[in-house]
Amino acid sequence: MSGILYVVATPIGNLEDMTFRAVRILKESSRIACEDTRGTRKLLDHYGISTIAVSYHDHNEAARTKEFLERLGNGESIALVSDAGTPLISDPGFRIVKAARDAGIAVVPIPGSCAAITALSASGLGTDTFYFGGFLPSKSQQRRRVLEQAGEMESTLIFYESPHRILETLDEIAKLYPTRTVVLGRELTKFHEEFHIGTAAEICTNLAARPAIKGEFTLLLDRFQPGEDVGSGTLAERMERQLGLGLSRMDAMKAVAREMGLSKRDVYQQWEQNR
Ligand code: SAM
Repeated sequence: MSGILYVVATPIGNLEDMTFRAVRILKESSRIACEDTRGTRKLLDHYGISTIAVSYHDHNEAARTKEFLERLGNGESIALVSDAGTPLISDPGFRIVKAARDAGIAVVPIPGSCAAITALSASGLGTDTFYFGGFLPSKSQQRRRVLEQAGEMESTLIFYESPHRILETLDEIAKLYPTRTVVLGRELTKFHEEFHIGTAAEICTNLAARPAIKGEFTLLLDRFQPGEDVGSGTLAERMERQLGLGLSRMDAMKAVAREMGLSKRDVYQQWEQNR
């Protein structure tokens, strides 16, 4: 009989956020597949888990998947963990889970921490519907496009962002959605946990005043509300602003159309008439 592939969530910072079940499964599995064996070893030692830990990351996924499928096929059970939180959520693991499913092998989730859900649950933003966008793109233009598209959803938006880009991203959000509530969860579950709540511009100003921006960030944006004040100024002023940000004419028209609740055609006609 085949073994079981367990997908085991681990803490996102606070070692106490490990479940009893996760500890038992990690102890009982024949192998623990982890992104970084040294990092995971600290967690395993803390809980007295002596199971063999083997690496499974973006660079050896294909080879390891083959090996793990063989082991699973021979009746061994394997536990998949990532550096922190829930595997596969902006972390490796998709390939082995898909391959196991395709091979008819049982895949059992062992739930626990996830930064996106942790941040959402305490954000004060609506939780009935939300969109998780993973990491925002590192390039400004792509990031802006993602924010524009997601910004039209009537759902709370959740993204992961790196400390190096957080100010840039907040600045972009401030331009796109100046009045929207932003919640920034920093170092969640850790000693220096913080929630910054305000407009993107307010949070950006507060963070920029710090000597250094460090830690892990989860960024949430309130949902689009029909009638939301997105920017100000005449149509021509808005067009100039978008073009000044480096957008193409077409993208600038799209952005202004969204801001003003007009069709792209209307924006085009009015802009052409007044030029
Ligand atoms: N699999 C993880 C999960 O379930 O949340 C996410 C892994 S992803 C590689 C790491 C990103 O998640 C960080 O860059 C940060 O954006 C977010 N994150 C992880 N831990 C966090 C924490 N303690 N506080 C705030 N954000 C966190």
